[in-house]
Amino acid sequence: MNNYQRDLNCIKASFKADWEEKPIIHIYAVATKKACDDLQELVNKEKPMKPLEPETHPLAMGMANFGYIKYTCPHCHKKEQAFYSGDDIQSYCSDCGQRLDWGKEK
Ligand SMILES: [Zn+2]
Repeated sequence: MNNYQRDLNCIKASFKADWEEKPIIHIYAVATKKACDDLQELVNKEKPMKPLEPETHPLAMGMANFGYIKYTCPHCHKKEQAFYSGDDIQSYCSDCGQRLDWGKEK
């Protein structure tokens, strides 16, 4: 469990709300549930996922180990590109923010 998940669990526990049984007029509870759902999605995106169908495209400009990788995001399923230079590579999907685990893909 990372720090973000721990913090979110603490917030959820502090409300001790059974969201399904709260009357809809309890706008505060509804808004808090929405906030927790949004934050949970953000926390989930911090867990690295392997990009799908990665295709490496080195750029031949006399520069070794420089180029881009076409991939499909494992979260939003959009086709994206991540540029790399040496061991540095974009760590998050530029569309949805999913953290990416490149492992030794390239
Ligand atoms: Zn994405």
